[in-house]
Amino acid sequence: MTEPSVFTRIIRGEIPADVVAETDRVLAVTDINPQAAVHVVVFPKTGEYRDVSELAAAEPDLLAELVSVAKAVAAEKAGGEYRLIFNTGAGAGQTVFHVHAHVLAGNLEEKSLVG
Ligand code: AMP
Repeated sequence: MTEPSVFTRIIRGEIPADVVAETDRVLAVTDINPQAAVHVVVFPKTGEYRDVSELAAAEPDLLAELVSVAKAVAAEKAGGEYRLIFNTGAGAGQTVFHVHAHVLAGNLEEKSLVG
């Protein structure tokens, strides 16, 4: 058994988080280490997919729901213009291997693309 991810622990209520949006299958929380004025991470409630490629291959409808939640968060918090990033692989900056999207908006000019 692998350890539950930090996002699974948030879903279980074991770690507090600032929930900004939720559906039956997806949760969005404020990133604990924000890289922009708006920085929200959006992830499925299932922890079975490590990255966006695995999720896209197995459950494209769940990926679409995740993107829809990201859009709604950005509409509410950033006027609908935002950067959506899926770090994929440790070499690309991924540290949590429970697929998630970063929604970034506001003061992005000087920011790198890695969360
Ligand atoms: P990544 O590096 O793409 O895997 O992104 C993981 C993100 O999760 C980072 O931006 C972290 O700041 C964020 N993160 C880690 N722990 C928490 C937490 N307890 N609550 C909210 N965000 C977190």
